[in-house]
Amino acid sequence: MFRFVGGALCLDFVNTSSWTGENTVNDRLTSAEALFAWASEAKIPGVRKDGPGHLEPSASLVEDAHRLRVLLRRILVPLAHREEPLAAARLAFEREIKRALQASHLEPRDERLALVWPENAAGRGILERVTWSAFSLVRSPERARALRECEGSPCGWLFVDTSRNHLRRWCEMRTCGGVAKARAYRERNRV
Ligand SMILES: [Zn+2]
Repeated sequence: MFRFVGGALCLDFVNTSSWTGENTVNDRLTSAEALFAWASEAKIPGVRKDGPGHLEPSASLVEDAHRLRVLLRRILVPLAHREEPLAAARLAFEREIKRALQASHLEPRDERLALVWPENAAGRGILERVTWSAFSLVRSPERARALRECEGSPCGWLFVDTSRNHLRRWCEMRTCGGVAKARAYRERNRV
C-alpha cells in the first residue's frame, strides 16, 4: 500500500520515495509492477492493479519514471521554498508537458471537454498524467503557493497545505510530525 497525503497526483508520485536532496531513501517505485500498483491505488483511470495485462511495459518505463520524479522535484521543491526552478529544469519540464499533450486527446465528458490519455501505452500514460497533474499544480496561484516540503529528515515529501492556518509542516502527523514532537519534548525536558 502506498500513502497518498500530497493532495495532488504528481506529489504522491514524487512521494513514492523519501529524499535527501536528489537521492532516494526507501524508494518504493522499484519495478514496473510497483508503478502499476501505485497507479491503480492512485485511481488513474484504466490502470489495472495486476499491471498492463497483455501489454508489456516498455523496458525503460521504470527509468523514465525515476527520471520524471527527479525532474518534478527540481521544479516543485524550489516552488515549495518560494524560489524559482532552474532554467534547465524548466525547459526539460516543458518538453515533458508537450509530450504529454501530444499523447492525449480531447473527449466530451460531463458537459465539458477533458484531456484523456490512452489506457495502454505500456505505462507511458501514467507518467503523462502525472506530468499533467504537475503542470496544473504549478499554474494554479493558490495551489502553487500552498506547496510545502515536509520538514522531517529524511523525508522530503511534498504536499499542498490546505490546513486552515496554512501552518502544516509535516507530511503526516503520525510519522514525521510525531518524531519532531518527541524530539522537541526530549529537548525541553533535558536536564
Ligand atoms: Zn515527512
